[in-house]
Amino acid sequence: DQGIGNWPTIHRVRHPHRVALIDAANGAELTFEDLDLRTNALADVLRGMGIGKGDRVALVTLNSPQMLEVIFAVAKLGGVAVPINCRLQAPEVQYILGDSGARVVFSSPQTATVVAAAVDGTDVAEIIEIPSGEQRTAGEPSRYEELITGGDTERAEADVAPDDLAMLMYTSGTTGFPKGAMLTHANHHWNAINNLVAVEGVGPRDISLAGAPLFHIGALGIFSLPLLYGGGTTVVLETFTPDAWLAAVERHRVTVAFAVPAMWAAIDAALAESETDLSSLRFGLCGGAPCPVVLIESLTRRGVRFAEGFGLTETAPIACVLDIEDTVRFAGSVGKPALHVDLKVADAQGAEVPRGTIGELLVRGPNVFVGYWNKPEASAEALRDGWFFTGDLATCDDAGYYRIVDRKKDMIVSGGENVYASEVEQVMHRHPAVGEVAVIGIPDDKWGESVTAVVAVKPDAEVSEADLITWTREQIAHFKSPRAVHFVDALPRTATGKILKRDLRKRWTEDGS
Ligand code: ATP
Repeated sequence: DQGIGNWPTIHRVRHPHRVALIDAANGAELTFEDLDLRTNALADVLRGMGIGKGDRVALVTLNSPQMLEVIFAVAKLGGVAVPINCRLQAPEVQYILGDSGARVVFSSPQTATVVAAAVDGTDVAEIIEIPSGEQRTAGEPSRYEELITGGDTERAEADVAPDDLAMLMYTSGTTGFPKGAMLTHANHHWNAINNLVAVEGVGPRDISLAGAPLFHIGALGIFSLPLLYGGGTTVVLETFTPDAWLAAVERHRVTVAFAVPAMWAAIDAALAESETDLSSLRFGLCGGAPCPVVLIESLTRRGVRFAEGFGLTETAPIACVLDIEDTVRFAGSVGKPALHVDLKVADAQGAEVPRGTIGELLVRGPNVFVGYWNKPEASAEALRDGWFFTGDLATCDDAGYYRIVDRKKDMIVSGGENVYASEVEQVMHRHPAVGEVAVIGIPDDKWGESVTAVVAVKPDAEVSEADLITWTREQIAHFKSPRAVHFVDALPRTATGKILKRDLRKRWTEDGS
């Protein structure tokens, strides 16, 4: 068996009593022996439900150690796990269940109603509920535990090859309909190697905190799966709040943690008033969306060692990462390619552009996905001549450091000039009153698109539209500065903290108020 399902088995043989997973809800520990035996039993139960090679099993659950158990159990059968965003509404979940053809779904009490409605008209024959953190803490009996108790802990033979599908991960759809990125066992394997070798020597002595949702490649593919491959420990937090995150770091002596910029911003704010002992934390990794440089500076000032990386669902996810020593000097850069990853900044035809020039970022390597499920056209467009076209605009400087400039779809063309939203956002973040900011292009008869900022001011801060425009114009060219600023209480975001610019554009295109 060459699949990821073998990972717990390897560690059970080598060091059965080492802790693989910790449930932050109650501190319960699962050793590699526990993990291997429980996932054997769960695989046996799923086999009894008709799941075998290539069959899809979905998860619409909040974070739990059990989520990782399901992923390993499915992998042991050569099946395909389909983690689904647990904040989606029933029609959205229904679309993914239908598209993936999942036959079994794991749910949480918090998602039970949505899942019950979503399975209608799909191939789903079985829903299994994973108990909530509260139920696990109270030791409530559950069908999930009953099934595991009833399963055979002896591992059955499975014929899993590295290039077999392990997972369908639906991109969160910030730019359109979700597409199921097909990730193989080999993709996860190489991403694990990238984590363990390219990122600050992460290894078996590390304890990571999965505080971001595990249905997203960020938390799953940064430290969680890789540490289970490497023999380290992962602490799983059911729901992120900055206080729960800080408490888990202190209690479990967490050494490494991945989070998206919106989470780091909340952690940074909480740290201002917290006495939490973060001495165990070797470093934090940030990725998934552009990280304001002011946030990197603030966390660094608080003594949090910090690095930024770049990746996508389609690259499982690590594509490049900045070394911590470079974090302050090269703040805003996403560093250099991870191991075995080739990057290229190219024109629309895929030809490399000169250093320093903006182009589309292309990725090649054994961690790159094999296509979108049921979408041959989208796959052929994304994967050309062995390269993955990311849809992100980037530059590479003479020293080989990459910078993400913008998403191609978010670039604004105003008065014939290209305006990169993230450049304007980085500048506006420096205004003392600005808490959150998104810069978008609104169709405009005169300018083609008009640069528009949507801002949430910091609590107790105040600033006017005119002042903010004037201030921004003093920092960057007038054509890049917003022509209008709209104020909101908070920006709409996906479950993984990405700003839903599509919603903002729609709102201010239809209703200019
Ligand atoms: P969709 O592609 O459907 O919009 P998505 O954006 O949620 O979904 P993901 O795979 O979750 O897809 O995110 C990948 C994207 O996140 C990248 O294409 C890039 O735009 C952004 N991203 C990731 N890391 C960084 C980073 N360090 N800086 C800037 N952007 C980043």
